[in-house]
Amino acid sequence: MQDIIKIENNILKFWEQKKILKKLEEKNKDGEPFYFCDGPPYATGELSPGTGWNKALKDMVCRYQRANGKNVRAQAGYDTHGLPIEVKVEKELGLKTKKEIEEHGVEKFTKRCKEFATKYIDVMGRQFIRIGCWMNFEDPYLTFKNEFIEATWSTIKKANEKGLLSRGVYVLPYCSRCSTTLANYELEYGEQKDPSIFVKMKSVDEDNTYYVIWTTTPWTLMSNMAIMVHPTFTYIKIKVGTEIWVVAKETLDRVMKTVDESPIIIEEMSGKKLEGKKYIHPLQDKVEHEADRKIILSDEFVTLEEGSGLVHCAPGHGPEDFIIGKRFGVEIYSPVNEKGEFTKGAYKGKEVRSTNRSIIKDLEKVGALIREEEISHRYPHCWRCKTPLIFMTTDQWFINISQVRDKMLEEIDKVEWQPKFARTRFKDFVSNAPDWCISRQRFWGIPLPVWECKKCKKIKVIGSKDELPKKLEDLHKPYIDKIKFKCECGEEMNRVEDVLDVWMDSGNVIWASLNEEERKIYKKTQFIIEGKDQTRGWFYSLLGSGIIKWDEAPYETVMMHGWFVDEKGEKMSKSVGNFVPFDDMIAKYGADTFRLWGLSCVTWEDVKFSWGELKDAFSTVNTVYNISTFLQRFDSNKKIEESNLQIEDKWMISRLHSTIKEMTELMDKYELYLATRTLRKFITEDISRFYMKLVKKRMSEEMFSDEALYTLREVYFETLKMLMIIAPFASEQIYQEIYKKDKKEESLAFFEWPKFDITKIDKLLENGMEITSEIISASINARQKAQIKLRWPLEKIVFETESTEADLSIEKLSRIIEWLANVKQIEKNTEINSKYSVKIHEGKVKKHYREQGLDEKVISLLKNEDPKKLQETIGRNKIYKIDGLEINPEVVEIEEKVKDYEITLIEKGKVYLYTKINEELFEEAMLREVARRIQQLRKQEELIESDEITIHFESSKKLKEIINKHTSDLLQQTNATEIKEEKLPKIDEIKIEDEKIKLKIIKI
Ligand SMILES: [Zn+2]
Ligand SMILES: [Zn+2]
Repeated sequence: MQDIIKIENNILKFWEQKKILKKLEEKNKDGEPFYFCDGPPYATGELSPGTGWNKALKDMVCRYQRANGKNVRAQAGYDTHGLPIEVKVEKELGLKTKKEIEEHGVEKFTKRCKEFATKYIDVMGRQFIRIGCWMNFEDPYLTFKNEFIEATWSTIKKANEKGLLSRGVYVLPYCSRCSTTLANYELEYGEQKDPSIFVKMKSVDEDNTYYVIWTTTPWTLMSNMAIMVHPTFTYIKIKVGTEIWVVAKETLDRVMKTVDESPIIIEEMSGKKLEGKKYIHPLQDKVEHEADRKIILSDEFVTLEEGSGLVHCAPGHGPEDFIIGKRFGVEIYSPVNEKGEFTKGAYKGKEVRSTNRSIIKDLEKVGALIREEEISHRYPHCWRCKTPLIFMTTDQWFINISQVRDKMLEEIDKVEWQPKFARTRFKDFVSNAPDWCISRQRFWGIPLPVWECKKCKKIKVIGSKDELPKKLEDLHKPYIDKIKFKCECGEEMNRVEDVLDVWMDSGNVIWASLNEEERKIYKKTQFIIEGKDQTRGWFYSLLGSGIIKWDEAPYETVMMHGWFVDEKGEKMSKSVGNFVPFDDMIAKYGADTFRLWGLSCVTWEDVKFSWGELKDAFSTVNTVYNISTFLQRFDSNKKIEESNLQIEDKWMISRLHSTIKEMTELMDKYELYLATRTLRKFITEDISRFYMKLVKKRMSEEMFSDEALYTLREVYFETLKMLMIIAPFASEQIYQEIYKKDKKEESLAFFEWPKFDITKIDKLLENGMEITSEIISASINARQKAQIKLRWPLEKIVFETESTEADLSIEKLSRIIEWLANVKQIEKNTEINSKYSVKIHEGKVKKHYREQGLDEKVISLLKNEDPKKLQETIGRNKIYKIDGLEINPEVVEIEEKVKDYEITLIEKGKVYLYTKINEELFEEAMLREVARRIQQLRKQEELIESDEITIHFESSKKLKEIINKHTSDLLQQTNATEIKEEKLPKIDEIKIEDEKIKLKIIKI
């Protein structure tokens, strides 16, 4: 085995020192532009295997495009803004709240964020380079740079001009620790225990009557403004002790579970009947907020799966409640501040979730609590700090997606999606996406470029730093907040202090990362690829920004990949302890192995990490090197006669061109994993397992050896050009070792993607070789059954077939079968006296045919049928009918027996291997076995082929006779001058079949 890690490191040095990528870009600079846009990760310092895989996929595409002469723009980039960075810096500085950040100083804080965001960029870049990823890592785009901020501002300005920018209140998931809203796709759901309570709300209209509601967030009762019922569900009034309760009929048992009284139903009605009924809040004096609370209707958000069928509605604290509240004009009441504390009522100043207990106690005190339980349910948490989220109303800025939704959907159809179902998934998301909330109440981000007049509320939106009244070096907070504009009304305009959602940053990457010159060349990116969750993330924010800016999708082809998970399918994480560091994988098996494995996995499915599969890929990489080791052993660079090419050489060349054709088609369709698997199979099966064997055999037979080596060498060269996009290190290394001296180019990367020549493809020959290879495998299996080693020559194979194609192929390819199956000859369609036995499984016949009363008939039909016919059909799992009756293959087994033959069915016929070993074959085999032992001794004593020896042996009688009879053969096979029989007391005895021998060699 080669020291792959060492080789890879040397190749890295070579690429870097000789500036191979730069030279390649220079060579392609007039080629057709191909703009690949890198989706920005955060530079957190440690590369996850998933990020490595993501970059390998990108690199495969870029390398392919470069090999096709394209002028590829592939600049790496990083996300640098946003909460992930802020949270890390808060931890470093020991700050816990926004207030503490303000006291610490926003300027100091954002400076620290900038340092942190770029701290690991070089480290990450090195890791990507280590796996052979060819992108611009020297000058990555960074989202905090002024050009980037300005490009994003100009999008916001454009949105405002188009009437797509608006401000409004909205109920959004909110993290009280981070004091900011989160987007729906940032929520992290986890199991959580919460109280589950049934509560009575007293009717105003009817005496002694209560509406029973249910909630798992008692604190939101403080903002209860209505009760929702379903218009068509059946509700009942029940008498419980002295009170009358209203619940949905179907939920009665659930509500009454722990109530001692047995209820008496006194009235049934539809939910519609309850509309407009008023009620009093059970904690009215604690709420301290007057309102006209009543029952409203909703057929979307009332279910019977849980609760009582009457749903507590707090429009200020639930997204669904908000929609209903808006629809019915219910007040959006949200007495909660940005720290998540109540601002009004009895619990003023308390963090809302912490009041659950007191509220339940208070409800109990006033007799409004029917039951309290604990439930465990999925609840959203902040993805960064893991605090349970609350929903609350905040003032935010929006892009009105609803106004451009149709255009977005139209554009999605113009984009190529890989896989195809990504389009449907994305369209589903866009069809239901709410307006895009782009504002965040944080510090480290692109500032919202909106100024607002204190007096007349007019706004001003700017699109570049030139529009600012004075020059600003750094466009971030807090500097930007000092900038004021003068309003038309004379009053001062202040900046709205928010920063932008980081998805706005990445949503603008496509043009924000380009310089002036490049913006003239590239309007859209030709290709992007990211994880499947990005249908809700980056693919979405890019599309939104593209529509605002250019009225079109900013990408041509979008590819989606799966997630990288552990062996059980769980997300890898350090805290769970199932995280496999990327560096460990690379240190153990190298980058080629990682790439080859990752790129072979179905791209859009989750990749389950597996050391086993990594090891398999490693063995493929070794095969790649082994072929080159073989080539290096021989000076195969001799001129050859084309006309001396043998049929297997023509086959090998045909397979090469078929593979180039297939690879090209697959890569053009971005079928990355199919391309990888195709090439991997071509190398391991066609070249290594099949053709190499023939090459070695030809060399041992001295039969057109130069032609064989020449073919292998040239085919392998073309193969390496393709392999360069998958396993670039091995490909380059082998090029340097074997081909560079003749082919001259400095690096394999400078060769173009190979072109297939249709005239070199001989499909008939390829099919014929496939049949041949099936016959060989069948005969090898037959040998195993008969327990005869492949080393032992056998007399013949008889091949029976009705296919003309198979028949003709065997004619041409018989030598190959004879060689690889180790038989003296192959005969076709020789008459063979077979005995068939048909075994009918009567139990199974009954199972399938008794009910219809056909079992007797089936048995008699089968008994009378020609067994050969049965074998041809049922034996090959084909549907067979006798007398119009379909025979289930389970019910019958057909066995064919011929004396001294082993029989195997293959697709196009039957292979009969003659297993009888006659005296002549036996002697030949035994002699070979002895020769093999002698060769082993030569190896042990480190003799080279040309060293002559004498052989000394002591053996059983029969073996002695064989040796004596074939002495000259043996001497020739082993390059010995003499063979002597003598006593060899100190030497161990070897057993060959039933014979025994002691062997010794002496070098002359
Ligand atoms: Zn948080
Ligand atoms: Zn004004």
